[in-house]
Amino acid sequence: MSEMPTCIGCGVQIQTENKEEVGYAPPSSLEKEEIICQRCFRLKNYNELQPVSLTDDDFLRILNGLGERDGLIVKIVDIFDFNGSWLPGLHRFVGNNDILLVANKADLLPKSVKQQKLVNWMKQEAKKLGLHPIDVLTVSAHKGTGVPEAMEAIEKYRKGKDVYVVGCTNVGKSTFINRVIKQATGQSDVITTSHFPGTTLDMIEIPLDDKRSLFDTPGIINHHQLAHHLKTADLKQIMPKKEIKPRVFQLNAEQTLFVGGLARFDFIQGERSSFTVHVANDLPIHRTKLENADALYEQHLGDMLAPPSAEYKDEFPELVRHEFRVKDAKTDIVFSGLGWITIQHGNAVIAAHAPKGVEVMLRPSLI
Ligand code: GDP
Repeated sequence: MSEMPTCIGCGVQIQTENKEEVGYAPPSSLEKEEIICQRCFRLKNYNELQPVSLTDDDFLRILNGLGERDGLIVKIVDIFDFNGSWLPGLHRFVGNNDILLVANKADLLPKSVKQQKLVNWMKQEAKKLGLHPIDVLTVSAHKGTGVPEAMEAIEKYRKGKDVYVVGCTNVGKSTFINRVIKQATGQSDVITTSHFPGTTLDMIEIPLDDKRSLFDTPGIINHHQLAHHLKTADLKQIMPKKEIKPRVFQLNAEQTLFVGGLARFDFIQGERSSFTVHVANDLPIHRTKLENADALYEQHLGDMLAPPSAEYKDEFPELVRHEFRVKDAKTDIVFSGLGWITIQHGNAVIAAHAPKGVEVMLRPSLI
């Protein structure tokens, strides 16, 4: 690979093997004198950013590079996967740069979710993870809601400096930047030159004004993302497409709910109560007795309890049990990347089972 040429756009080393990774160009392009990677090609010709991902080593290299720059860092997270879409270690690398946290996919939240509670929760979580964002905003890159406000905030907080947009794969970073490009330029050609200034960070540059730019960094794969463990067809089913419709279950102690075969919720101890499930509307939910739950999972993973589909069930990570004693009424049990279950009454003992590596946590209800 070492004698491979570099892209005339972003300076990344060209590779012809993996379309999803940085530097991809079709093999035929190697015959040309000036080679442009697919990402730069699409941006140049269609004003469209294409998601690309990176390996862990490259990720560290990019983070290191960010600390040496002077600008505003805009970190995009997925509201449904706040922890799964976190960039581990980001706080150590940002240096003195301000961070603006933009939580995407707000269109999926039920209307009953209180915006302020959501923002407060994200602020607290960010703090726990060592980050002190200058502000937290929610947007729907898909629908465009909140994007003008986010652009205003970016303009305000960048204080005339460059902007670096970072995020894990799948959080909607490309959709967001594509919106920004459209709103800032009204569809016209943003990239007017054929050569973008080469950088060593594999970043794509989008001009903001005469002097400053917005830089897109490649998406980083976070191995804790639930999405990472699923194949495309199954993935479509877990990613909510429309506003989530809460589903309510009245449970007695010693009853269990399965969310497809992806997660399991045991109500172990406590008075009969209602539990509100907030996951993609297409995901089937099965109720059973706690005593039967192990056997049911064993026998029916991949058919009745799907996704994962039968084809991929053997590759799916085992479920790990997390037990909680929930004191307060209206507490959410959050399964990163999947959704959450609201416990309406306090004083309950529950167990949440999630695929290995996927985080489960409690938070005060957002509703
Ligand atoms: P990237 O890997 O972070 O660049 O993510 P993409 O922009 O490719 O988006 C990842 C997935 O999330 C795609 O399926 C998008 O359609 C979806 N997506 C992006 N933004 C939104 C949003 O605001 N709402 C919803 N519901 N889906 C979104």
